[in-house]
Amino acid sequence: MRGCRPRELGSTPNPGLMMIHSTLSGTKEQLQPIHKNRINLFVCGPTVYDDSHIGHARTYIVFDVLARWLKYRGFGVFYLQNITDVDDKIIQRASEMDVEPGALARKFETRYLEDMQRLGVVNVNLYARATQHIEEIIGQIERLMELDYAYETATGVYFDESHFQDFGKLSHQTAEELGKHRIEPDPTKKNPGDFSLWKKREDGATVTWDSPWGRGRPGWHIEDTAITETYFGPQYDIHGGAMDLIFPHHEAEIAQMESASGKKPLVRFWIHTGFLNVKGEKMSKSLGNFVTIREMLGRWDADSFRFFVLFSHYRSPIDFSEEALDQASRSLERIRQLIRIIDSHLEVTGPKDSTEPRSLHEMDARLIETRTEFLGHMDNDLNTPYALRAIFDLVRDVNRRIREKTISTNALLDAKQLLREFGEILGINLSLAEKESPGKEEDLTRSLTKLLIETRQKLRDKKEWQMADEIRSRMKELNIILEDSKGAR
Ligand SMILES: [Zn+2]
Repeated sequence: MRGCRPRELGSTPNPGLMMIHSTLSGTKEQLQPIHKNRINLFVCGPTVYDDSHIGHARTYIVFDVLARWLKYRGFGVFYLQNITDVDDKIIQRASEMDVEPGALARKFETRYLEDMQRLGVVNVNLYARATQHIEEIIGQIERLMELDYAYETATGVYFDESHFQDFGKLSHQTAEELGKHRIEPDPTKKNPGDFSLWKKREDGATVTWDSPWGRGRPGWHIEDTAITETYFGPQYDIHGGAMDLIFPHHEAEIAQMESASGKKPLVRFWIHTGFLNVKGEKMSKSLGNFVTIREMLGRWDADSFRFFVLFSHYRSPIDFSEEALDQASRSLERIRQLIRIIDSHLEVTGPKDSTEPRSLHEMDARLIETRTEFLGHMDNDLNTPYALRAIFDLVRDVNRRIREKTISTNALLDAKQLLREFGEILGINLSLAEKESPGKEEDLTRSLTKLLIETRQKLRDKKEWQMADEIRSRMKELNIILEDSKGAR
């Protein structure tokens, strides 16, 4: 089979070659799984009280590419993500919107999963909801109390930071530095930095569960270690998340699990993604530069965004702007354009060329070289910008050879096959025809939805309730939920 040629000519999948940066050691280390060739990967999932933004999208795309890469390299990967579906933010938002917290969480969980599907983030094996692991959470807190790492007060159960000598080892902070920015006023706590494992809530008005410490709900950090212990045990290979979760969230996870199990380290590799800024500024609702995944996908296709993300190293900050996305879109189009040229060329010549020109051997070597370069960069701490550069060098070279007519049909087929293989590793469809661009379809859907909403509002203004309600229920069938403001009918 011609299509398999580059793989035959180049190296084959081979676990154990990858170097990856661990936040814990601050250096690149060789990836050695705890269990032979099997990687257990956990990444912090969303708190489902709102739509996820493009900063989240960056993190989840990076770990999707990591999972794809590890599988390509021959590792078995189990990718676990939690869903934080009980949290003060959820409860507050639900009360503002006058809905049940559980219903709000389910709604935004569904929307999150839709967003991930559209972004091609499809390698998570299991999404674990916090609310379905309350028993495990309580069990872990009980162990911490028995071991004297946790204590109960009038407001809840807290982790006693002063009993865990390694506190600060992930964020590389000394006790003095930790003390500076961690003042949580609660007079019942022993140390200001002690964090909550269980929050007592006796008022009955919010989401609570029974526990040995009365009604209440879990703290945020304990949810992750209860979930990872359930599926992976007390130690596993990779924990990922955005850089802003290192402290206190991931530091707290280490303290909890290493204290409860007595085993170190909880995680072999801590991998953190850099920030995503919008036009040089941190994204925030108050600055008005907050972009949700849905808004972004209304303008650009998911592949362009993924390309934009992969143009930077995952630990570097990236800057989102229209120009950057348009640029990524154009770059992607250059590869797709080449594949279309190859396809139209093959339509003319047929799949097999009997008169192999002399340049064939030269091209074989070129493809092997590109492949080796690409694999080497991916193995080197997932260096996607360099891997992409190897792809663009090849694209330029093949385009030149096509212009100069110094490339055989077979070499074109091999080049196309190699590009598609790269595309699969990166999670990008490189064979998309121009007319298939999903961005345009999104625009149309968005415009039509807007038109319907405006039409319905006009009907409501004219007090034509029956027709307005019918539009709303028909839109609901299409999973578009309209929420009228309070007081309006
Ligand atoms: Zn987490």
